[in-house]
Amino acid sequence: MTIQPTDYELGAEFKHIYSGKVRDLYEAPDGRLLFIASDRISAYDWILPSVIPDKGRILTAMSMWWFDRLQGIVPNHVLSTNVPNSVRGRATYCEKLEMLPVECVARGYLAGSGYTDYLRDQSICGNGLPPGLKDGAKLPKTLFTPATKAAIGDHDENVTFDEVITSIGMEEAQQLKRFTTWIYDVAAEIALDRGIILADTKFEFGLGIVGANKDQIVLADEVLTPDSSRYWPADQYKEGVNPPSYDKQFLRDWLETAQVQGKPWSKSPPAPHLPAEVIAQTAAKYQEAWEKLKD
Ligand code: ATP
Ligand code: MG
Repeated sequence: MTIQPTDYELGAEFKHIYSGKVRDLYEAPDGRLLFIASDRISAYDWILPSVIPDKGRILTAMSMWWFDRLQGIVPNHVLSTNVPNSVRGRATYCEKLEMLPVECVARGYLAGSGYTDYLRDQSICGNGLPPGLKDGAKLPKTLFTPATKAAIGDHDENVTFDEVITSIGMEEAQQLKRFTTWIYDVAAEIALDRGIILADTKFEFGLGIVGANKDQIVLADEVLTPDSSRYWPADQYKEGVNPPSYDKQFLRDWLETAQVQGKPWSKSPPAPHLPAEVIAQTAAKYQEAWEKLKD
């Protein structure tokens, strides 16, 4: 299924190359990537028919804030924020990379699919864990729990480190693991200073194609936003109770009760339209996470 880009009235010199669930990618005449975060929102891996005002700007501002703080660990794909007016604030010029087919997840706490895997196997992606851990527990050390990128509507699937080695080779697999856990540890400490627990997060990396980063691993995509991360307010953290996070849990809870054509939503298209108050509250969650972080 192809996704229609949001119309930002870019000139014909920008060539549309891809749209994901949230972002629209264009190639600029000089070969740079114009990486635009739209206000689209997805849940259960489907794009919803409503948009969240200013979400794309917040995601872009947060990613830029984090890229700044992560300099010195790994090169990133951002080249400039001086973009056409119609996408100013929600887009950046980036280095076009050859993306590595691994969703690089780091976990410092047990939650979500990590907790589900733990209950079943007492391990996540081949990382064995002690018995008796509760939902939300802090893990003994940061885990690299990679996943494969899934097609639209499919869930990403957790894989073992050995599977990553088979897919991209030993050296790159080890580098991804090292960068992912390192960035997580640095970011988790910065977030905690601001009263936010970074429970887990996902990074995407690519290989440079030309220039100084040719064949180097480069941090790409969005970083450390509420869409790619599970953030919890530290003052409400309690092991065993799934904390109220800044991620899309609020929206997911509403979707659990939503009706489409008189029946509970089946988690496949058509997805329900969001009522104005759900849109407003979701927008407020993104704003709140950003305000709390940057202050
Ligand atoms: P998918 O595209 O797999 O459906 P998604 O729905 O999360 O994932 P978005 O986040 O909306 O996609 O779009 C971002 C897309 O851009 C992703 O496919 C990501 O891998 C890709 N990407 C991110 N940074 C770069 C880069 N520097 N060069 C090339 N592609 C990139
Ligand atoms: Mg994405």
